[in-house]
Amino acid sequence: MRRLDRQAGIALVVLGAAILAVVAFTTPWDLLRGAPSVPPDPARDFTAAEIARARAFDAATSVPAYLSLGLTVVFAGLLVATPLGARLLGRLRGPWWLRVVLGVVVLTAVVELLRWPLGMWFETELRAFGLSTQNWGSWTGDRLKSIGVRVVLLSVMVLAIVGLARRFKRWWVPAAAGAFVLTVGASFIYPVVFEPLFNDFTPMPAGQPRTRLLGLAERADVPVEDVLVADASRRTTALNAYVSGFGATRRIVVYDTLLAAPEKEVELIIAHELGHAKYNDVLHGTLVGGLGAAFGAVLLFCVAPLWRRPLSDPLAVGAVMGFLSLATVLSGPAQNVVSRHVEARADLHALDLTRDPETFISMQKRLAITNISDLSPDVVEYVLYASHPTAPQRIAMARSWELMNIP
Ligand SMILES: [Zn+2]
Repeated sequence: MRRLDRQAGIALVVLGAAILAVVAFTTPWDLLRGAPSVPPDPARDFTAAEIARARAFDAATSVPAYLSLGLTVVFAGLLVATPLGARLLGRLRGPWWLRVVLGVVVLTAVVELLRWPLGMWFETELRAFGLSTQNWGSWTGDRLKSIGVRVVLLSVMVLAIVGLARRFKRWWVPAAAGAFVLTVGASFIYPVVFEPLFNDFTPMPAGQPRTRLLGLAERADVPVEDVLVADASRRTTALNAYVSGFGATRRIVVYDTLLAAPEKEVELIIAHELGHAKYNDVLHGTLVGGLGAAFGAVLLFCVAPLWRRPLSDPLAVGAVMGFLSLATVLSGPAQNVVSRHVEARADLHALDLTRDPETFISMQKRLAITNISDLSPDVVEYVLYASHPTAPQRIAMARSWELMNIP
């Protein structure tokens, strides 16, 4: 092994170990220690009809979802393992950077065209179950916009990789640093640059709910400038709230669909989001994600010699995109494991702050029924998609909290 490869190998091991250590020591693995355990039980809180509806929705949507994921993985695999990318992009002409950008556009267009009918199938099921409020015009607009955002971000990444590979022999050093900075920067500007492309955000109107929510933030000792309302009802009937950004761009957002819910339930949802704000979950997740991106850049450098083409060649764009796509899919389950614990900690924060497990449970039921959440996902679904504990798990935790805290 050449010396420079050995250094990249050491960096890979050190970065990997650092990520594992940070995740191992900062993830709240053991919440509610010593509390009596309550097993999750969908039948206790949901009617047979509600359970059947969740099952039917899951069955109807999982086929197009799995096919779409399968297509993504197979296409990415072919790009990595075969000369497909070079064959598809062989006719592109022009300076290297133009061929890189066009390569990203062409390959994204190919996979998105294949996935398009599956997306329409999925949307048709959302409408059949009353979850989508879109027409095909706005659906198409949304999808094109999100593909556009992806093309822009991918172009920046691939241009940087090919550009660095053309200039430096040990390009993994600037690539790893660049991947970290790009991840952190993208997460920081996301709420002010990307989210407004899809929704309008307005400050929650002055009045009783707003005053109470800001009062809650004060009690939680989390400084919050404002609570924003997103016009989500133009797209969905689903209920949601979230925190995005950090530092100067941090905001708590609630869907406008949520405002019709009882005020005490909205308060519990905000109390959960305040938990995320209090523990700086977005910033923490972003920093770990940045380390993950740096790890990915070094890994790419280490596997690149396996390909026939050097990464300085614009025809290697396919292999790079396939690698990025596979890395994204494969890192998902690990992110979900951590995310579920972080979400449980935010739930616990909501319970500690409000001391109102009864409203917490009715809020979880409303969310699960309105969003037709999967109440008992199978192992594969849980591993691939569950970024949150299931509603029955969250309700069980509230009962466990109640047994421990309310005599
Ligand atoms: Zn959350």
